[in-house]
Amino acid sequence: MTTTTRFAPSPTGRLHVGNIRTALHNWMLAKKQGGRFLLRIDDTDAERSREEYVEAIRADLAWLGLQPDGEERQSQRLELYEAAFAALKAAGRVYPAYETAQELELKRKIRLGRGLPPIYDRAALSLTDAERAAKEAEGVAPHWRFKLDHDEPIAWNDGVRGTQKFDPSQLSDPVIRRADGSWLYMLPSAVDDLDMGVTDVLRGEDHVSNTAVQIQMFTALIAAQYPAARMPSFAHEALLVGREGKLSKRLGSLGCDAFREQGIEPQALIALLARLGTSQPVEPIADRAVLIETFDLSTFGRAPAKFDDAELERINAALVHQMEFAEVADRLPEGMDEAGWHAIRPNLGHISEAGDWWRLVTGPIDQPAFSDEDRAYLAEAARLLAWDNDPWHALTSALKTSTGRKGKPLFLPLRQALTGMDHGPDMGELLPLIGEEAARRRLLAASA
Ligand code: GLU
Repeated sequence: MTTTTRFAPSPTGRLHVGNIRTALHNWMLAKKQGGRFLLRIDDTDAERSREEYVEAIRADLAWLGLQPDGEERQSQRLELYEAAFAALKAAGRVYPAYETAQELELKRKIRLGRGLPPIYDRAALSLTDAERAAKEAEGVAPHWRFKLDHDEPIAWNDGVRGTQKFDPSQLSDPVIRRADGSWLYMLPSAVDDLDMGVTDVLRGEDHVSNTAVQIQMFTALIAAQYPAARMPSFAHEALLVGREGKLSKRLGSLGCDAFREQGIEPQALIALLARLGTSQPVEPIADRAVLIETFDLSTFGRAPAKFDDAELERINAALVHQMEFAEVADRLPEGMDEAGWHAIRPNLGHISEAGDWWRLVTGPIDQPAFSDEDRAYLAEAARLLAWDNDPWHALTSALKTSTGRKGKPLFLPLRQALTGMDHGPDMGELLPLIGEEAARRRLLAASA
């Protein structure tokens, strides 16, 4: 069976860094096996789903370079859910319930008060036909619950968490359909996973208890409607938290737009999120093939993965320092050529800073005030400046001999006069870019 994974966002908002991580891991899991990565838009909630978010999700995945091998939308698959629902109903696995939200809340409180788990008491299961008919006659439309089989223990071997066991009698029969006929997440997702041949469900650990319930749903659906399908494998990754170790509000709203604005390259985010929370080192790996090759669920930890902006910035800078001119040419300031990129690249945290450094070459620059002694030294530098294939080396050796200066007093006034800065790109690479004429002009201006 072809490995098939899916990323299943609800288009009720923008993707945040936690979603991006889930998408990435599903993509890597599929690619490692030469399989398929599907985008499934979970838009059964018509009220909260928005087309603009669907488009934003696609755009974000494209920016990240996580191209899906197929896209499906739940809103276009309602007939499948209807058919599955009918089959489960015929098999006695769904039942109507009539409690209002307030009634359910009251029942919950009473159970909690008695020290019982706040699960649904299945009162609707013991309604007689006459009682049901009476409810309907009153105009109360039922919502629908999936009936868990209390004699069928729930267990699976989770790709991250190892053996997982649940006692079905300690779980509520999940509501799968609202009184207005609309679907809750649980059933459509299981139907789709079977119908689309999803082999691996990889999602956040907030879904562990959904999986427990869905496992019985999968079994019932395979028996009633999808005899050729197979139950997928499940893996639940630990959640992403802020550096402080807490679930942060900020992370919940931190998405591709913010990263782009911050000057973060998609590749940096990918390199960080690929291994964050695993036992493998987070490294500035630009080659996705390497990340895919080393992707391994068994290296994922159970502890929350800590997202640290400073770490992302470090990875970003290290990746920018590796980038070739051709990859970035269209994002560089006008006139900046390959030699310019190579000279400036090691100084960048973000590509967008290239313009600031390039101004050291094109000017104008702001020179500091120099002491009399340094002015004389810079006049000597202007006199000795000669142009060959390594003018910086030639100039500094000549000055060393003629003035006896060395170290900082030799180099710093030159850097300051030639660039207006105390630090920056390697002068050996920069000086040829500044050019002989501008260099002499700057030295003379500083010595005046
Ligand atoms: N739409 C669900 C969510 O956003 C999908 C969960 C899943 O992967 O099954 O949480």
